[in-house]
Amino acid sequence: MKNKIPTRIYLTEDEMPKHWYNLRADMKDKPDPILHPGTLQPVTAEDLAPVFCKGVIDQELDETTRLVPIPSDIQDFYRAYRPSPLIRAYYLEKMLDTPAEIYYKFEGTNTSGSHKLNSAGPQAYYAKEAGLTSLTTETGAGQWGTAMAMACGFYDLKLTVYMVKISSEQKPYRKALMEAYGANLIPSPSNTTEAGKKILEVDPNTGGSLGCAISEAIERAVKTDKCRYVLGSVLNHVLLHQSIIGLETKTALDKYGIKPDIIIGCAGGGSNLGGLISPFMGEKLAGKSNTRFIAVEPASCPSFTRGRFAYDFGDTGKTTPLIKMQTLGSGFIPSANHAGGLRYHGMNSTLSKLYKDGLLEARSEVQTEVFDAALKFMKGEGILPAPESSHAIKAAIDEALECKKTGEKKVILFGLSGTGFFDMTAYTSYNNKTMSDQIPSDADLERGFASIPNIPQNI
Ligand SMILES: *Cc1c(COP(=O)(O)O)cnc(C)c1O
Repeated sequence: MKNKIPTRIYLTEDEMPKHWYNLRADMKDKPDPILHPGTLQPVTAEDLAPVFCKGVIDQELDETTRLVPIPSDIQDFYRAYRPSPLIRAYYLEKMLDTPAEIYYKFEGTNTSGSHKLNSAGPQAYYAKEAGLTSLTTETGAGQWGTAMAMACGFYDLKLTVYMVKISSEQKPYRKALMEAYGANLIPSPSNTTEAGKKILEVDPNTGGSLGCAISEAIERAVKTDKCRYVLGSVLNHVLLHQSIIGLETKTALDKYGIKPDIIIGCAGGGSNLGGLISPFMGEKLAGKSNTRFIAVEPASCPSFTRGRFAYDFGDTGKTTPLIKMQTLGSGFIPSANHAGGLRYHGMNSTLSKLYKDGLLEARSEVQTEVFDAALKFMKGEGILPAPESSHAIKAAIDEALECKKTGEKKVILFGLSGTGFFDMTAYTSYNNKTMSDQIPSDADLERGFASIPNIPQNI
């Protein structure tokens, strides 16, 4: 047993990362710049200043600094719940009878239940540092709102969360948790903003949407003194903060000389996947490894596998700057029966570029099969996975079973982005077989594509 790799590989506090890693700095072909929607010129820090706080704007626009020091205050914040466990899936391997080695990095041990706290902490810190007194944001499934509520509680900032109305009704415990941390929760659409009022006039009984909640949160931030807006995925500064996941994983694996052949993550806006793969992708770009990277998305919202690579808006209200990304169109509305998150129409620009250049693979999975995989995993490993994370589990199991066929002893690493404790409604519908799979038709996708702005795409 002496040389056996431990089931949980730990890092000491000294081994914890002191820098985030900015993958864009090592990309020869960088993602296209974010454009101002009016002038179609690259956005400047000044353009973004009314909405975001300075610290994150600088990070968003910086594509040359490789290693960005993590302020010591944020290192302390991370120490409260990190390192997250890196686990060798011995029990799952045995269950699958595969020669593959499977590892997963579990981000669901903190109270918010997902990796989102890794960026919520820094975003609250930079707001505090800039002398702001409050922040606004939106939340759909509730993980990001909870993470921001925790971070704002820690840094003593006021937080207003616009939570998609239907979601706030379906997930009362998420609401209770955010309020316990001191957040002001407003079901969206609401009559606290012009954007919300407009939508309520047309449809007073609407359950709301993420796009509308974003518009409300931005409007409130812009109109409130010493207040800014924060976003939990998609943007490159979020990817930078999430690189803590990949850096910890790499340090831990390096201690045992383990080199992953395949790295897998679920993808909504791309932040947990991007964070996990960043340092490993950096090695691949430098010609030092031949790792395969796989993004897994729901078949109901397939922005990689069936989307277009185009400049598009980040919100349904078409108020944000334009991002060149894999997109289904900001007007695309995924089927309401899809459980959990991963419902965003677009994808982080860096990951979109890597996909376009053939460095990142992608596949889509239907939710009943994703839950089949989740149940296998939880029986073996004892951890209840979030529905989002279970997309990665599905692909990891498939790759491990492929190894069983070929007899190859590959090393598979995947990101387990969160816990499923707040998603028991989805597990209930899986258990009583009311869960179904909805794959958008080509006509559904065409309706979404029609909302992509008609501008020259090769600027
Ligand atoms: C938000 C969330 C995701 C999707 O967001 P990404 O930015 O793609 O990582 C995935 N898993 C969990 C548990 C989440 O909370």
